[in-house]
Amino acid sequence: MLDMDLFFRLSFVALWALFGVVRRYYGRKTGTHSTLAGVKEKLKTAEEDMGTGFKIITAIITVVGAVGLVLYLFSPPWWTWTFIPLGEWVQWLGIVMALVPIFFLIWVHRHLDRQWSIALEIQEDHRLITTGPYRFVRHPMYLGIFVYTFGLMMISLDLLVFLFFGFSIWVNYRRIPKEEQMLIEEFSDEYLEYMRRSGRLLPRFRHD
Ligand code: SAH
Repeated sequence: MLDMDLFFRLSFVALWALFGVVRRYYGRKTGTHSTLAGVKEKLKTAEEDMGTGFKIITAIITVVGAVGLVLYLFSPPWWTWTFIPLGEWVQWLGIVMALVPIFFLIWVHRHLDRQWSIALEIQEDHRLITTGPYRFVRHPMYLGIFVYTFGLMMISLDLLVFLFFGFSIWVNYRRIPKEEQMLIEEFSDEYLEYMRRSGRLLPRFRHD
């Protein structure tokens, strides 16, 4: 019988790779993210948005998290203290929570299309998207990524993976107000009006 621990680790890798393939596919279609140089350029712009203190914390957590991730994936017998024993059902639920958003994110990418960027920016002929998932929420991509990331954390039940991915959720969450500010500056009333009828991460049901 396949060892469950190994099964969950393989699921973790498979779901990570699947998401990577989806991102790569839509990244290529946007044009600006089609080369490695293009992606690096965007990452640099994204980093410039952070303060210096924040960059240092990011660097530390990234190194600790990356080491933790490798240790989790290879799971050497002498490395066990980071495991959080919450039960196998949490890991099964994690698989569902990581898989479902991947399909949701395909839908998001198809609507956001070339407006997508890993940096906060207004592109040439930038259109305001309010269709598909954007009809209901302004940040469906972040929502999908948050749920997906949380799913991966649940599959791993590993303290350092929690730290690393939890931090990445927080970093992206912090971007939302800045992103909205940027879009208000670009689209003014059109975006303000869009804000009134949509939710930030969750749809709003009450209209007032
Ligand atoms: N926050 C969105 C998009 C993430 S990608 C989401 O979670 O779905 C980030 C880029 O999307 C930013 O550079 C911004 O210019 C662009 N963007 C965000 N919302 C948009 C919208 N409604 N229409 C067009 N572009 C948008």
